[in-house]
Amino acid sequence: MSTITTPLVDLVGDRTAKALAKAFEMRTADDLLRHYPRRLAQRGELTDLASLEVDDDVTVVAEVVSRTEKGYGKSVRAEVVISDGRGRLQLVFFGQRSLHRTRNLTPGTQGLFAGKVGLFNRTRQLAHPDYVLLSGELDVDAYAGALIPVYPATKDLPTWTIANAVAQVLRMLDPIPDPVPADIRARHRLSGFDAAIRSMHAPASTEEWFRAKHRLVWDEAFGLQLVLAQRRATAAANPAVARPPKPDGLRAAFEAQLPFTLTAGQREVGEVIAGELSRPHPMQRLLQGEVGSGKTVVALRAMLQVVDAGGQAALLAPTEVLAAQHARTIDAMLGPLAHAGQLGGAEQATRVALLTGSLSAGAKKAALLEAAGGAAGIVVGTHALIQEHVQFAELGLVVVDEQHRFGVEQRDALRSKATSPPHLLVMTATPIPRTVAMTVFGDLETSTLSELPAGRAPILTSVVPAAEKPAWVERVWQRIREEVAAGHQAYIVCPRIGAGAAEEDEPSGDDARRPPLAVLDVLPMLAEGPLHGLRIAALHGRLTPDEKDRTMTDFTAGRVDVLVATTVIEVGVDVPNATVMAVLDADRFGVSQLHQLRGRIGRGNNQGVCLLVTEAPEAAPARERLAAVSATTDGFALARLDVEQRREGDILGAAQSGRRSQLKLLSLLRDEATIDAARAEATALVADDPALERQPLLAAQVATLLAADNADYLEKS
Ligand code: ADP
Ligand code: MG
Repeated sequence: MSTITTPLVDLVGDRTAKALAKAFEMRTADDLLRHYPRRLAQRGELTDLASLEVDDDVTVVAEVVSRTEKGYGKSVRAEVVISDGRGRLQLVFFGQRSLHRTRNLTPGTQGLFAGKVGLFNRTRQLAHPDYVLLSGELDVDAYAGALIPVYPATKDLPTWTIANAVAQVLRMLDPIPDPVPADIRARHRLSGFDAAIRSMHAPASTEEWFRAKHRLVWDEAFGLQLVLAQRRATAAANPAVARPPKPDGLRAAFEAQLPFTLTAGQREVGEVIAGELSRPHPMQRLLQGEVGSGKTVVALRAMLQVVDAGGQAALLAPTEVLAAQHARTIDAMLGPLAHAGQLGGAEQATRVALLTGSLSAGAKKAALLEAAGGAAGIVVGTHALIQEHVQFAELGLVVVDEQHRFGVEQRDALRSKATSPPHLLVMTATPIPRTVAMTVFGDLETSTLSELPAGRAPILTSVVPAAEKPAWVERVWQRIREEVAAGHQAYIVCPRIGAGAAEEDEPSGDDARRPPLAVLDVLPMLAEGPLHGLRIAALHGRLTPDEKDRTMTDFTAGRVDVLVATTVIEVGVDVPNATVMAVLDADRFGVSQLHQLRGRIGRGNNQGVCLLVTEAPEAAPARERLAAVSATTDGFALARLDVEQRREGDILGAAQSGRRSQLKLLSLLRDEATIDAARAEATALVADDPALERQPLLAAQVATLLAADNADYLEKS
């Protein structure tokens, strides 16, 4: 008999096997059996035809109402009308041969019809759909029940061919052994694997199908969590240099001079981190926090603790602007504590070095020396930090800011710069839903800063519908003038840089709308018009790093009133005096991106105002997104919305390496409880049996998972 590793050619015949390989890269029984039905059609229950959208690829169950032969010569065709009992849909088949072929579509016949919904004479139709009749032609086993599985299909491989192949494979397959240990199955009331696979394809009832699905979802979550648990266990078993706090060190001196009191959250997370740094194993922590929640101070305290204990800390930022700003802020916050060897430097002081790709040769050399010689306790930089020639005397802690721009590989490259693995603190400003934290970032332990420092007035956000209320746009400029008159500053964000050249930061625009507004067009227009007389500067990705840095310095110092920028300011830029932001063509940005952008204002004690200017009509889905952003400042709620809209695949990386994702059923939105439970079980199992030696089937499954995508869907970040 055969097992799930049996090649499909041996089971379904040459032609079908080839088609399955071509369409879905399927090779083995397992591949096919994990191609689950998208949904179940109920025999006798027809698909709601009114719900079909133009351009959808659909498979519908419907009944033939009429069939007429029309035209002559080249235009000869069969026009068939099908119905769901209420709505109707036209099918059209051209050519003499179609006339013969479609003779079986007699009124009253029910069938499955598959094709792309098109529009002809303003009526929806399917041109040349594939179809089978619900009598006769179908494999008896595949369609024995009242429920008809509808598979993801292609033009050459309709759902019924897949169903027939599946039925054939299931007939020939030995019972499949269950990889999940019996005690775990019992605890979570999971059906057996063999039964689940069979029910998934040929259920006797909808409940049975859902039960099967639950079990298979569980398997996906469990496999993923096993990989992550193993990774955490391996990393945690590594030795690291313990960096316990020093009561009278730099960190204590820094805390004594802090101009504000730490929030409760900052203190709690700080304690956890201080404890982990004190252990002889590497910390692996993700710190996520609302925009403006004060992650930098938390990181700085950790860095100083490590410096106190004789180590160095590297702070990795995603952009040069941000790296330079971090270096400046840290230097300013530390004051004399960062000026070792300088006049006025404190006795126990250290130094902060900035290392980015754009430094002059001399500056770079100096920074490299400070890093390699150990003079700099804190080294701030972009990914230039992880280039090979950068060396540290005693790297003890790596802090990665705004993690979503760094991959695991880059983290690893940096970690490899230390003789034993350094401690790791990853910070993300985009709040991520718990399930994402448990999967995409699942190799890290997570802390969250949810409260903002006291005294922060929440940012007020309003949508400015430019098309319906042009006068409101005037009001935007007026508002900016008022803020500037009151001594504050403003951001104006555009989706595009402009002035011709190819653009990386332009959202892909394959639509017929006008091109998005551009910094280089908007700036002169405002400078000569509504914002005449204000000091305006541009900030975007095409400036040289030097120019960017100069502009940011000027803006920070208050020498520029209005910054017209692309999303380069999205990440981490901190100018507390900026109180108003206008986002132009706001509909071209994503939810999390907008939230991130507006986090740039309202960082001080002044009320921040964010104005989302859009020409999108009121009924457009984009307007709903904007309304959501203006209605809440809860980054986690918005992140969830973003996940919903981005489709899961993008996050779990389904399409990533162009391979089939191993996670077909798992949903980050729906399956939180399952992911939670699977994580707990996986962690316990791995603690007990790290290499899964007593669970060969699970070990094999994990190996497949790792090999299939080289685990890069886990590492997408
Ligand atoms: P983010 O978490 O977005 O990186 P930052 O670390 O840049 O936020 O902090 C935002 C601002 O809040 C900074 O100006 C910082 O100095 C200030 N800040 C941080 N912690 C506190 C606190 N406990 N009280 C008042 N202000 C704080
Ligand atoms: Mg930050």
